[in-house]
Amino acid sequence: MTTMVIAAHPDDEVLGAGGFVAKLSAAGEEVHHLILAEGATSRDDARDVAARDEDLSELARCAHKAAGIVGAASVTLESFPDNRMDGVELLDVVKVIEQHLAKHKPTRVLTHSNSDVNIDHRVIHDAVIAATRPQPGNAVRELLFFETMSSTEWRPPTSINPFAPTYFVDISDHLETKLRALGAYAPEMREWPHARSIEALEYLARSRGASIGVQAAEAFETGRICA
Ligand SMILES: [Zn+2]
Repeated sequence: MTTMVIAAHPDDEVLGAGGFVAKLSAAGEEVHHLILAEGATSRDDARDVAARDEDLSELARCAHKAAGIVGAASVTLESFPDNRMDGVELLDVVKVIEQHLAKHKPTRVLTHSNSDVNIDHRVIHDAVIAATRPQPGNAVRELLFFETMSSTEWRPPTSINPFAPTYFVDISDHLETKLRALGAYAPEMREWPHARSIEALEYLARSRGASIGVQAAEAFETGRICA
């Protein structure tokens, strides 16, 4: 199978599915990363891409380094506005995703859960569902939604349908690779006990592993599986 990870921000692709990607790559499968929003520009009151040029270049370097560590075949960065994707027409996001799907023809697509705080994550969740709608000839056989620490668990479960994983991937042999790829995103990572720390990501993987009786796992919601 060919897999595409469709994420909002540089680091989400590793936070959500870095272990699964490392496992697939190690097995010889092709994985492509698509990152849709630019990152960094939401730190300013008004979006100023030029003022964040250095940060954006650094994030792109991090994305390529992390992709290399987990063995992804390619990484593509688009430039939708960071944390402002609710101001973009959904169809414009869908069209861009469709272009990348047509290029790589993935049979498995991994993207954000709808249960997140982050608005870009939820916009992309909706856009991916639209772009992968099962028309005749659609190659996507598996659509899965990942959790993103510092967004999924920050959404109070009483405010929206909470993340409810039903698909677990044993990443016992790939946790170290995932954590190393997160290390490539040093500007985005925080100190423990922040949810987006290396320690928190390891503890989550251990906890998900315990859920299925293995050393470490990543958990996903099942969007659609076509057997
Ligand atoms: Zn994100």
